[in-house]
Amino acid sequence: MAKTLADLRRPDLLQTKGFVDGKWTSTPGSETFDVLNPASLEKLAILPEMNAADTENAIEAANKAFASFRKTTARQRARWLRRWNDLILENIDDLSLILTLENGKPLPEARGEVIYGASFLEWFAAEAERTHGETVPAANPNHRILTIKQPIGVAALLTPWNFPIAMITRKAGAALAAGCTTVWKPAGETPLTSLALALLAQEAGLPNGSINVVLTLNKVAEVGQAICDNNIVRKLSFTGSTRVGKLLAQQCGPTLKKLSLELGGNSPFIVFDDASIDHAVEALMMAKFRNSGQTCVTANRIFVQKGIYNAFSDAMLKRMQSLQVGPGVQDGATIGPLTHERAVEKATQHIEDAKRLGGKVILGGASVPGSKGYFMQPTLIRDMNPEMITTREEVFAPVLGMYPFETEEEVIALANNSNVGLGSFIMTENMSRCVRVAEALEVGMVGVNVGMLSACESPFGGVKDSGYGREGGTQGIEDYLTVKAILMDVN
Ligand code: NAD
Repeated sequence: MAKTLADLRRPDLLQTKGFVDGKWTSTPGSETFDVLNPASLEKLAILPEMNAADTENAIEAANKAFASFRKTTARQRARWLRRWNDLILENIDDLSLILTLENGKPLPEARGEVIYGASFLEWFAAEAERTHGETVPAANPNHRILTIKQPIGVAALLTPWNFPIAMITRKAGAALAAGCTTVWKPAGETPLTSLALALLAQEAGLPNGSINVVLTLNKVAEVGQAICDNNIVRKLSFTGSTRVGKLLAQQCGPTLKKLSLELGGNSPFIVFDDASIDHAVEALMMAKFRNSGQTCVTANRIFVQKGIYNAFSDAMLKRMQSLQVGPGVQDGATIGPLTHERAVEKATQHIEDAKRLGGKVILGGASVPGSKGYFMQPTLIRDMNPEMITTREEVFAPVLGMYPFETEEEVIALANNSNVGLGSFIMTENMSRCVRVAEALEVGMVGVNVGMLSACESPFGGVKDSGYGREGGTQGIEDYLTVKAILMDVN
């Protein structure tokens, strides 16, 4: 029997209210929205639509808590984060089940996300104690200069539906470690995991008001504007589309908030003639099909050198035939549903456009007929060319298009011909080429003979229209800190 919410070991992890100042809150009689399972379109929960006034309350609560939270020691904050990490891992079965039901990804992938998400809390617990300042040699012999780092203030964390757990912990781990209090606005499609995380954070001892969660699906513009307009919020971190990222950057102009924007990508995946085919196929399976192709660093333009093109395409076809489409709770499913109906429409449009312009569909090519949920067949298209939409826009679906190329110089130009620059992948056994190409690509991250770009210890982020700021790594906490210079006369 496929699992449902009735299988939760701790039913209290399924919360259905907003979280403000340590209390679960909803206004009686207020508007609500439904959280749906994208595999069946069944209703999982009914949540309150929070509005601008609710958002302001959450910001006030975070501000009140900041007065004392900023004075806690880094060691104390590290203890809270470690305890939170432990509680998340203790509840991995329940968290991955809620994640699979609201987002659609297969259960083993959901477990992977819980582990990956928790890793940011351990990482930033350690980073909390390493936010050293400096002593600076002063030009005046009577002066001494030192710098200290302090939390920037209340941080608003706006997270997407594709990694609802890891995007919260990647931001909140850094913010709380730095001493900032937080207001979370999870994506309205996948808010249930955020609420479970907030509950576990409270159990871990994080003080009231250090975490506040605002819920909305349909009032996202109103809530977003209320966050941007508010002077108390000193930092906004957003992961999502470039369109919304640019809107938020404009809206934050008047209050000069510090911004981190992790936006869309269009990752090139380059397979050179000298690559190991088996290795490159496995790396591409990982880079393309994780979360059914809905990751910001998903391989979107697959450039394959002519000498290896046919052999690589045959091997990829064979490997893709083993993918199993189905609800994430179904044993053996490797491709879950997409999160939105509009994502199926977009993927279909990309496939039709590629066919019209000469692409050859050799596997899949459409949505899954007769299914209630938003399922898309894994699709392989050969002979893509730069005229096609997929060259300019990410598909965000399990649709893989291959482009032939001849020279290293040519493929670098093709890869860089994009307004975004987040992830990229290079498959080759030639180390000199790795270095040359990695240096030439206009991106924030390069995977060499790997299909994964994210790890808590590695800085994650992009260039161009993929945004700015880095999450994770030693850089991740800096975005939540300000540097204060203290100049002293010692005479
Ligand atoms: P979207 O632009 O409608 O929404 C993206 C996120 O922004 C959602 O979580 C939503 O709650 C939030 N949002 C929307 N309007 C907002 C506003 N005015 N103020 C504050 N927050 C707001 O995008 P979508 O339809 O969910 O996805 C479209 C494309 O965006 C995808 O195909 C993909 O290219 C990209 N995307 C990227 C990521 C990523 O991880 N970088 C995540 C999700 C989507």
